Amino acid sequence: MTITSVNPATNETIGQFESLHKDDVTDAVAKAHDAFQTWRESTFEQRKKCMLKFAKLLRDDADEYARIITLDMGKRISESRYEIEYCANIAEYYANGAEEFLADQSMNQDDAEAYMRHEPLGVLLGVMPWNFPFYQVVRFATPNIMAGNTILLKHASNVPQCARAIEDLYNECGLPGGVYQNLFIPSEFVEVIVSDSRVQGVSLTGSEPAGRAVAALAGKNLKRSVLELGGNDPFIVLEDADLDDVVEKAVQGRTVNAGQSCVASKRFIVVSDIADQFMKRFKQAMSSLQLGDPMDEETTLAPLSSESAAVKLQEQVQSSINAGATVVLGGDRPDREGAYFNPTILTDVTPDNPTFDQELFGPVATVYVVDDEDAAVELANRSSYGLGGSVYSADRERAERIARRVHTGMMFINQPTKSQAELPFGGIKNSGYGRELSHLGILEFVNKKLIHLG
Ligand code: NAP
Repeated sequence: MTITSVNPATNETIGQFESLHKDDVTDAVAKAHDAFQTWRESTFEQRKKCMLKFAKLLRDDADEYARIITLDMGKRISESRYEIEYCANIAEYYANGAEEFLADQSMNQDDAEAYMRHEPLGVLLGVMPWNFPFYQVVRFATPNIMAGNTILLKHASNVPQCARAIEDLYNECGLPGGVYQNLFIPSEFVEVIVSDSRVQGVSLTGSEPAGRAVAALAGKNLKRSVLELGGNDPFIVLEDADLDDVVEKAVQGRTVNAGQSCVASKRFIVVSDIADQFMKRFKQAMSSLQLGDPMDEETTLAPLSSESAAVKLQEQVQSSINAGATVVLGGDRPDREGAYFNPTILTDVTPDNPTFDQELFGPVATVYVVDDEDAAVELANRSSYGLGGSVYSADRERAERIARRVHTGMMFINQPTKSQAELPFGGIKNSGYGRELSHLGILEFVNKKLIHLG
């Protein structure tokens, strides 16, 4: 099988990579397992040196890595550059913090000495998506390498150039062979890896169906797992919010990465007193977005990641319209080559509409008008997802009270959900389980081992 990179701005094939055979996969597991025997004994100083070099290599060649991201999956070049800088920050955060995060923890009792130590588990598999093709990998691999684990990485099949570049970086930064290996494999091979007794855990970032499939494999084989899945984040606007600011954040929140972010703002829940004003300005701002070549710095809305992603989004929007949704803006694709989708606003998406509880992965906002804050919370919680969300109000305490009532893993006041190295990232319900980033992210795949000295 061949893994192909297609530039979604032009639909041209730009790279092809041969996928591995099953035997190659077993060999890679063996290599990762062998590497673990020595890597687990390495010092934090050694690991830190590699990760700081990794960050430096990223920054030294940021423009080239950004170009690869944009060619593979179409995001705006400025967003790609930001992603590379953010990856360098994550690498430095864990390089400098890992020793402290994994320090022994005293468990002394009145009459006995005890402590908990954090030991690496072994070989881990990462299954990653295309939407932030460097960040998703770095967020999983870096803390785990710092903890002494070794990594096998199956990247999404539409970003092979990114997958190859990341593997080169982990090798060039001084990690011994086998500590990080990229595997060009179809998703069916994931089972071979998860069921191998030398593999200790799996982390998947991706869609809900992929999460269910991998969690089932992990369960069957009694392996630890972390799942970072989709979201349908509420963006709650109260009547006392500053509308200029809110509209700017609403456009930003919905169209980050051309709308293809798990924590993009997706459901705009607006209190009725302010709803007309919000809709008028939001429509104006969304319609002024400039669709275009993602390599062009002037472009404000990039294509989607692939032709099939654009076709899927069109089908979802059409089924929403068929079930009674009203199109306030867009709703279709522009007449041009590439995986483009027009900025879109839908209203009247009732709970019986099939898209009510679906993730729309593109620049499509659904707007709901509610009577008051209680109704806003009730609607926000009517979702099978529970990833992030945000609340907008001039009254911070009121917004905070509402944030505490929304059932998600992350809530932000007066700004859309964002990710930072120091902040825990993850969801509840069908958005998955476990946390990445922060000190919590490095504790997912370690043995929290008790030593009792009597
Ligand atoms: P996807 O289709 O689920 O793919 C993600 C990864 O899983 C890819 O490597 C894919 O491989 C693999 N995969 C798919 N089906 C599989 C199966 N049955 N068994 C094993 N592996 C399987 O998701 P995507 O379209 O790339 O990414 C978009 C989704 O990811 C959205 O739902 C988004 O919200 C979510 N996401 C979540 C987070 C978070 O942190 N919570 C962050 C980013 C994205 P192939 O490419 O070879 O199919």
